[in-house]
Amino acid sequence: MQFDNITIIGNGVSGIATFISLIMYSNVKNITFISPNEMGYSEAFSEASKEMICNTSVGSISIVPNNQNDFLLFLISIGESVTVDDFVPRSLVELYIKKRYELFYGVALSKGIVIKHIKDKVQCINYSNSPYLIKTENNKEHLTDAIVVCSGYANNRIPSMFEKHLKQETFYINPYPLKKVIEKSPRNSNVLVIGSKLSAIETSIHLAKNKHIVTMLSPSGEIPAVRGHTVPLRTSILNKNSFEKINFKDRRLGKKIINEINKSLIKNFKNPVYSQVSREIIPIDRLSEELNLALDGKIYWQDIMVEVIDKLNELLLTQDIDVKNKFINQCMPIIDRYMGACSIQSAEILLEKLIDNKIKLRNGVVNKIIKEEKWNVFWQDGSELFDTIILATGREYPSFYINDNDNEVFFNKKEFLKKATITKNYRLFNNKMNSEEHIWFVGISSHSAIPLINAIYPVTLQVQEVGEWFRLNENVTWN
Ligand SMILES: Cc1cc2nc3c(=O)[nH]c(=O)nc-3n(C[C@H](O)[C@H](O)[C@H](O)COP(=O)(O)OP(=O)(O)OC[C@H]3O[C@@H](n4cnc5c(N)ncnc54)[C@H](O)[C@@H]3O)c2cc1C
Repeated sequence: MQFDNITIIGNGVSGIATFISLIMYSNVKNITFISPNEMGYSEAFSEASKEMICNTSVGSISIVPNNQNDFLLFLISIGESVTVDDFVPRSLVELYIKKRYELFYGVALSKGIVIKHIKDKVQCINYSNSPYLIKTENNKEHLTDAIVVCSGYANNRIPSMFEKHLKQETFYINPYPLKKVIEKSPRNSNVLVIGSKLSAIETSIHLAKNKHIVTMLSPSGEIPAVRGHTVPLRTSILNKNSFEKINFKDRRLGKKIINEINKSLIKNFKNPVYSQVSREIIPIDRLSEELNLALDGKIYWQDIMVEVIDKLNELLLTQDIDVKNKFINQCMPIIDRYMGACSIQSAEILLEKLIDNKIKLRNGVVNKIIKEEKWNVFWQDGSELFDTIILATGREYPSFYINDNDNEVFFNKKEFLKKATITKNYRLFNNKMNSEEHIWFVGISSHSAIPLINAIYPVTLQVQEVGEWFRLNENVTWN
């Protein structure tokens, strides 16, 4: 089959990375983007103010396949003095994505490729015939030979207790753009931030720096681990053979994974995982101890983390959906703390603000809210009056649904009961035809197939596979 026309749905990180990969590897003639936003828009990077830094370091950010140091080279080319281990402002990632789009747009034009952008949101794809038919929210229709879905996260996670307050002026369903939230809040506001992971931490730090008093409230009341970098070592340190033998149906799966990591750490660094993490129960003491471990360079788990994520992704791809769900429920609470660890810089500021009581950390679930002039918020062990509430509870992962005839896939239309199946090749599976469609899901969109996808690093590997598929199926090589 000839793939002359390819459509990329979404133009954030994975949309632009897919574009680059197609330009590098395929012989496509027309590429159409469908997305409501400008090229390179990604909420994570485009809505970040200058002080907000990445949670992955320079060496694990690249949207160009086969060139893991591309972001580093870009930063050096614009005069930034950085190393692979540095955590840089997220706005630089946005600039990088946009500039790389411009560069490869030029390459595409020189190859005679026609590029279009339909500014709209996709509602569904009809795959009953070839070419496929894409329908948008503004009732536009678009025909295409193949599709790569890169539409990112779904809606904000909103705990049910907050649902009836969504329209209140001093209530924010997410912290972005934080500048707007800070501008609108009078000085010395008492702000409740729901959550205690990375976005809650950066929100709280910025509010505290702007003289607000912040309470971070989450069910666990725990904060992530601290790390100095996210770049893998050049040599492999994970014992892959033994990792591959893990039975994903084991009731103690989380423990088994930690044991494997531990064995590799002892073998390579003579240092068990337990000596690299704090066992303090009080979060502020734990943060303090883990910050010191990171500053002393005594955390080797960070050197193995990317390898573990890669291996888990590879192994989970071939597991059925129940096993993947079990993994998410059982293991993510253990691994998440390290996968979503915060940088030394953020940890230092957070600790200082916690000690000064400018940020307070509470654990609990909100069970009552009374909105009068202020917000009177109640949870198990406490209640307090707040001027502003900000949800930093993250985004939901997307689900795609198929109709009863199994010929249309919908973006977030929950009235259909059947969830779309995304195969280990990241492709839509057509149950009726018992075959894979020429519809790929990349980046966050592929979460149901590949659970640990929420960083740029695995996305770049993924788009390379997609690009190479087109190369192998068209017999064209990049030169
Ligand atoms: C606050 C925050 C900080 C992060 N920091 C980092 C970090 O430091 N390092 C890192 O590696 N990762 C980070 N991430 C993860 C990062 O966001 C993802 O890895 C990356 O953005 C995934 O790319 P994506 O293309 O799947 O989604 P996005 O980059 O979000 O792109 C989605 C695109 O799809 C478009 N779209 C959405 N719905 C539709 C539709 N129906 N039709 C058409 N277009 C649509 C959107 O407009 C957007 O352009 C962070 C995430 C968050 C939330």
